[in-house]
Amino acid sequence: MRWRRGIKWLCTLLAIAIAFALVASMRWSVSVTYQDTRTPTPRLRIVRFEMGMLKYVRNLDGVALDVPSPYWDTSVTKASGRLDWLPQRFKSQYIDCWFVPLWLPLILFAVPASLLWWSDIRKARRVRKGHCPSCGYDRRGLSGPCPECGRPAAPQG
Ligand SMILES: [Zn+2]
Repeated sequence: MRWRRGIKWLCTLLAIAIAFALVASMRWSVSVTYQDTRTPTPRLRIVRFEMGMLKYVRNLDGVALDVPSPYWDTSVTKASGRLDWLPQRFKSQYIDCWFVPLWLPLILFAVPASLLWWSDIRKARRVRKGHCPSCGYDRRGLSGPCPECGRPAAPQG
């Protein structure tokens, strides 16, 4: 099925990208700072990958910022700080911070990807051995649908 293959590859690629970001975030801290122009007074937003975390920080004090509008800046610095594994949120009158550990989305995509790969590998192994890909029934020497589950025979060749 097409959608199944699409989901398998999408989850696999996202899991690889997140795993890469997780490892890289231990070494480098990558920040994107931008200005939210939808609010009446310009406020900064920071998205940062650092020490296994995706950090989102909203600046809440309505101080006018002396920066060109729209403001956009990317910076890469050496990662510092300690490793945290749990999601966190703290909010004050000035900032609102959301910290999401990258292992959360990694598991979210790696688990379905592994299950889909595992089931495809199992199915391919059954076909190679001459067994029914659906139920594993040994159908060597048989033609027509599977006697166990009724799955039609795969087209030959
Ligand atoms: Zn079968």
